[in-house]
Amino acid sequence: MNEYKFLTLTSKAGKLGNERGMRMPDKVDMETIVSLCKRRGIIFPSSEIYGGLASCWDYGPIGVEIKRNIKDAWWKAIVQERDDVVGIDTSIMMHPGVWGASGHLDSFTDPLVECKSCHLRWRASEIDNQKCPKCSGELTEPRMFNLMFKTFMGPVEEEADTIYLRPETAQGMFVNFENVVTTSRKSLPLGIAQIGKSFRNEITPGNFIFRTREFEHMELEYFVKPGNDEYWFDYWLNERYNWYIKLGIRKENLHLRQHGKEELAHYARDCYDIEYLFPMGWAELEGIANRGDYDLTQHAKYSSKDLSYYDGESGERYVPYVIEPSAGVDRSLLAFLIDAYDEEEVEGERRVVLHLHPSLAPVKVAVLPLSRNEKLTPLAKEVYKQLCSGFMTHYDDSQSIGRRYRRQDEIGTPFCVTVDFQSLEDNQVTIRERDSLAQIRVPIKELKQTLEAKLRGEPFDTSPLWATRQK
Ligand code: ATP
Repeated sequence: MNEYKFLTLTSKAGKLGNERGMRMPDKVDMETIVSLCKRRGIIFPSSEIYGGLASCWDYGPIGVEIKRNIKDAWWKAIVQERDDVVGIDTSIMMHPGVWGASGHLDSFTDPLVECKSCHLRWRASEIDNQKCPKCSGELTEPRMFNLMFKTFMGPVEEEADTIYLRPETAQGMFVNFENVVTTSRKSLPLGIAQIGKSFRNEITPGNFIFRTREFEHMELEYFVKPGNDEYWFDYWLNERYNWYIKLGIRKENLHLRQHGKEELAHYARDCYDIEYLFPMGWAELEGIANRGDYDLTQHAKYSSKDLSYYDGESGERYVPYVIEPSAGVDRSLLAFLIDAYDEEEVEGERRVVLHLHPSLAPVKVAVLPLSRNEKLTPLAKEVYKQLCSGFMTHYDDSQSIGRRYRRQDEIGTPFCVTVDFQSLEDNQVTIRERDSLAQIRVPIKELKQTLEAKLRGEPFDTSPLWATRQK
């Protein structure tokens, strides 16, 4: 018979139910997240033994798993589960002509100022009162800067050999549009997706991994027939908003903000930011833009290649419009950590817990023998072996069982499996669930199957987006 045990939990915000939705949306501060990340091997300052390098961070053994899980979840939703999107992986260094066509080289010639608060950049010549036209924030000194990192290809550092580290992955999709259409034998609407590193020499990096000079993008360029663009724009807004909700971000911490006319890039027909309520306030998590035919038209002009598309269905030839959902891996990871973080009191003791969605949790199961004992160890190791080929599994037999539970709670491990002396007799182990702290006893031979089912079983909230849409 299965034996269930429920403990009484009290969170910082009061009494806690077994459902995550019942937690109050109280905000954790950034220092607490930074310190948890350091303590538990999620994120370290880059080159720390040399004093670190400004705004550069390294992902540790736990962080790298969360990051990989975020990328996998995105790839699954965008590429794997759809037959209208294909993936690519393009090089970071591209022909310099790409950056002329895309408009990224333009700002070399204009002195710009950046708002220290909302980070929008303005041409210095267009500013009258030294305040940000959007939010009235303080502005930096005007500078002739370009956000692209410059380097040289080949042994001689000559202007002719200047190349740039890409500031976005999107151009890799535009310049390969024809290659992909021809080889994939798919018709429009067709998306090309990519995950990869981008580099921006930001003037005002900060807020931990929110704004860094090296980061990872998850970008989709979805090519559509002109005239169908508004439909697909709304469709992708909805999809992308729900992706965060399905992965556990609370609705009250997420909203959509439409770009005003002054903020809209000159080529964009429409643009929304999905914003998250970070500890420093609402800020962009992902941008979704209707880019019209700007990109393909520009590349056709600069490369002298015809990038129009022949639509076999309608018999027309046109330059497709592009809908672009563009998200950051690192910024999403920060939002997922903040949203999952909680402090509770459990039977008089404080516990820090990350209520991460199981698919994002860095470790799915921890195998914990009740104590380090020569009789228990062989069975516990056998259980570990059974599980580790199926899930990211930890084995831990150091210190008290209570401390080991806390360590797993702090990195968001959904299930702990305890092997005790009773297990030696009845071949059963106890599974403890992270959020409810409920415990259930199962036969070892059913353990893997039970955990698989429990890891799959999170209810998803897919209620309609429009109720929370904000201008
Ligand atoms: P921001 O206004 O915050 O500078 P952006 O509008 O320039 O961002 P996009 O070019 O739309 O950003 O990039 C899409 C996504 O890439 C952003 O929503 C964010 O998640 C991520 N991103 C952009 N720049 C950075 C950065 N410097 N550090 C970390 N993530 C970034």
